[in-house]
Amino acid sequence: MSKFWSEVVHTLTPYVPGEQPKLANLIKLNTNENPYGPSPKVIAALKAEAADSLRLYPDPYSSVLKATIAEYYGLQPNQVFVGNGSDEVLAHVFCALLKHDKPVLFPDITYSFYPVYCGLYGIQYETVALNANFVIDVADYDKPNGGIIFPNPNAPTGIPLALAEIECLLQKNMESVVVIDEAYVDFGTQSAIKLVSTYPNLLVTQTLSKARSLAGLRVGFALGHPDLIEAMVRVKDSFNSYPLDRFATAGAVAAMQDHAYFEETCHKVIATREWLAIELQKIGFEVLPSTANFIFARHPLHDGAELAENLRDHNIIVRHFKKPVRISPFIRITVGTDAECQALIAALIKQ
Ligand SMILES: *Cc1c(COP(=O)(O)O)cnc(C)c1O
Repeated sequence: MSKFWSEVVHTLTPYVPGEQPKLANLIKLNTNENPYGPSPKVIAALKAEAADSLRLYPDPYSSVLKATIAEYYGLQPNQVFVGNGSDEVLAHVFCALLKHDKPVLFPDITYSFYPVYCGLYGIQYETVALNANFVIDVADYDKPNGGIIFPNPNAPTGIPLALAEIECLLQKNMESVVVIDEAYVDFGTQSAIKLVSTYPNLLVTQTLSKARSLAGLRVGFALGHPDLIEAMVRVKDSFNSYPLDRFATAGAVAAMQDHAYFEETCHKVIATREWLAIELQKIGFEVLPSTANFIFARHPLHDGAELAENLRDHNIIVRHFKKPVRISPFIRITVGTDAECQALIAALIKQ
């Protein structure tokens, strides 16, 4: 009954997340979830929250969580914005900070949600090609823009950009906001958070979905100058006053406070990633240098779609992107447990 649709709906091309099949014995290496569960302290905090107090609305300002995140990174609470997953945070970023007369710039190969937000909010954008090695060259961003956004490390390549390069970009773009999406930063990339108090045009977003094993809880945040945060709060309070429920807030606070567990699981994922990269190379794959919790790799003799299809026959799912064509030879493999990655290598050897 599309006659009832608002006009904009006809023009939308929504983001398609990786599939979540309900199959037994599936080795799920397709959506960059953490193979290790959340901290036991998070589970305890969630259980404690299952109480009579659920009849009350949560704190609309998420003050405790903001204070916890601010303290963790040595910032002030008014430099922190929290939301229902960083996807929601990013939506508010596009609406609040990136809709201008000039186009927003992002790489041609990057998180495919960015153009979707542009479609929703009617924001003009221009993509900037990664160089021949799939690396972001900041010199290519030296043009008029209404903002710049990319993940660091980039997705789905996993390749990081040095902090000095980001600083260079910030200095050249004092009139527009530079957003660094640090969804995977904790697996070995230098964070730009230390630049937040120096550059009023820098906004850093992060998520608890990957390194803190809480994809199911939906918590993300942004860090930046209080003016940038206020713009996002205005959008949020025009949309949903309570994006974080009582569980999300309690779980997120506990996760941020259990630093030891976070470090331990990140180290395990990094160690498995390094092993996996070497094993893939031994069987002929070209592996891009990843500092994320996934590996982007191609084989000279097999197409990406074919590789993904064959792995599925072994009950292993990875992610394949048909577009842009430059990345269609690749598969993106989430780093799982050691056993899952061994099973993946065994399946690839049989092909
Ligand atoms: C996973 C991911 C996000 C979103 O994470 P949420 O689960 O919505 O917090 C944002 N950006 C990139 C690049 C991602 O890969």
